[in-house]
Amino acid sequence: MREQTQCTQGGSPAKDLADWYQLNRRVLPWRQTRDPYAIWISETMLQQTRVDTVIPYYDAFMSTYPDVRALADAPEDEVLKRWQGLGYYSRARNLHRAARIVVEDFGGKIPDTEEGLKALPGVGPYTQGALLSIAFGQPVPAVDGNVLRVMARYQGIADPVDSTAVKRQVFSAVQTWLNEVSPQVLTQALMELGALICTPRSPSCQQCPIAASCEALKNDLTGMLPVKSKKPARKVVDVAALWLEKGGRVLMERRPRQGLLAGMWQLPAWELNRLTPIQETRVLDLVRRGYEELAAARADGENGVPSQFASSQLDYASFAVRESGCAPSDEGTQSGLDFAVIGQERHIFSHVEWHVKVYRPVGISLPELSVDEGRYEYVTREDIWSLPLPRVYEKLLQSILKVKG
Ligand code: SF4
Repeated sequence: MREQTQCTQGGSPAKDLADWYQLNRRVLPWRQTRDPYAIWISETMLQQTRVDTVIPYYDAFMSTYPDVRALADAPEDEVLKRWQGLGYYSRARNLHRAARIVVEDFGGKIPDTEEGLKALPGVGPYTQGALLSIAFGQPVPAVDGNVLRVMARYQGIADPVDSTAVKRQVFSAVQTWLNEVSPQVLTQALMELGALICTPRSPSCQQCPIAASCEALKNDLTGMLPVKSKKPARKVVDVAALWLEKGGRVLMERRPRQGLLAGMWQLPAWELNRLTPIQETRVLDLVRRGYEELAAARADGENGVPSQFASSQLDYASFAVRESGCAPSDEGTQSGLDFAVIGQERHIFSHVEWHVKVYRPVGISLPELSVDEGRYEYVTREDIWSLPLPRVYEKLLQSILKVKG
């Protein structure tokens, strides 16, 4: 980042902001182009993700998929692999699906209208505004959390910024500014102000180009704005994962096509709703029963996956029934099957927190298991790394297999 230049603040706030941006903007890879595809990729990556994190991903992604046709032609697993580590994987899946729509329905040209962009999965109002203003120079606001914070402070808005009324108010204020200066500059200037000056904590008001007319600064409210609605507490979920390895090949499971981390690969696992504290013995009992079903299916000559494995979502209710005496919890112990915990990791998503433990059966000779190859697959230790892995499983596998991250 260049040294910040003090602003003279002689014109309108929009003009002052635009002038400040021209002097102080950071040099970033996606700012060297007006190619709508490149801007689309960068704006999608930047959602919920820091610039420093995005830069290497953006560079690698653009050299692998330099245009929309290259992205449309790629297999989804490969795109997810390129995205691995950036999180919020629905962004990658939507980009991929949208690239195919651009090729099939728009002749490979990114649409330059709101209506056209609405047809693309994952392109919401913010990305529409960013693309239309930055790539096509149209006066369409791009309002994200950063812009809401800046404008809520600037206008002294005391209502929650996530309310529809405030979003509309901010959208309308940005719309007015967009009519005064180049949309391409104004949109990026607001983003840059939010990233460098009007930061979430301790804004640098003395360097701000619009400080002279900022309501929050005038009324000493910069530490109190923006106001946000209270979010429900993040749900904590225990996840029991199973390590089954035979002849150097590890059983892996592909997650369902919909929902969290859709389509990515993990160790076979169950999510356990933490409605009340769960004792490890109960978790083990469940894993044990799942494993035994898998082994029994093999003994019966079945190729299917037993019910315990067929469901990656197992709620606490099934535990509650068993706990109330319907099934003895020491059933698994009778088989002599025991487990060692060989890895554990905590991972925080926006709405849920996973506590994952990996269990390895000990003291028995594992049968060769036959599994549904669509969902479960035995993979060599080396080939695991070519699968798209959620970060939490990548870390677990690195620690279990003693591979450097
Ligand atoms: S003066 Fe301070 S609070 Fe107001 S917009 Fe500028 S940085 Fe944000």
